Amino acid sequence: MIVIFFGAPGVGKGTQASRVAARSGLPHVSTGDMLRAEVERGTTLGKEAEPIMRSGELVPDDLLVRMIESRLGEPDAASGVILDGFPRTRPQAEALDAMLERTGRGAGIVLVLEVPDDVIRERVLNRAKLEGRLDDTPEAFAERLRVYREKTAPVLDHYRSTGARVEVIDGDAEMDVVTARILAALGLGDNGKEVA
Ligand code: ADP
Repeated sequence: MIVIFFGAPGVGKGTQASRVAARSGLPHVSTGDMLRAEVERGTTLGKEAEPIMRSGELVPDDLLVRMIESRLGEPDAASGVILDGFPRTRPQAEALDAMLERTGRGAGIVLVLEVPDDVIRERVLNRAKLEGRLDDTPEAFAERLRVYREKTAPVLDHYRSTGARVEVIDGDAEMDVVTARILAALGLGDNGKEVA
């Protein structure tokens, strides 16, 4: 099962994706975390990505596509993954479709988390105080939201037009409530086993 977590920055994709990963036993693949790890390690990729992330822009598609292709080729991804932060543009979505088709894996289930803008803005600015993430400044957040509307929202049109399964979840509730909604939408019981 390939689950694609989709939604604006700050909707809670990371938190919820890691919970669903834990319940389902599938690996949580967060491109934001993977990129931050590269920045931390000071790799060539990390050096290229850091200023882009800091400004709230998107890292180039070809780089992300290669990163995901190699991650999906790892043994623990054989029965599926929980994708968080990818695909973020139409070309990324098309590349993912092609990868899944090539490897005989069915299309992904798209989980859209919806939270009002004023709520996510507050969440992100709070997180900035707790975690000091390089792109949680008010300026970078505003840019991430703009980029989301311009480049990422159209990805949903792509999935709707290709007939993928799209589940819209109201994410403006307590974390546990949102998790329960997601597990129900995925047909996973509370213990993470698929419900017949
Ligand atoms: P959020 O969803 O809160 O905006 P992420 O941790 O998913 O944050 O991503 C942080 C940053 O990493 C993005 O603003 C972008 O610069 C980069 N990034 C992550 N995933 C992608 C992607 N699929 N394509 C391009 N850039 C990405």
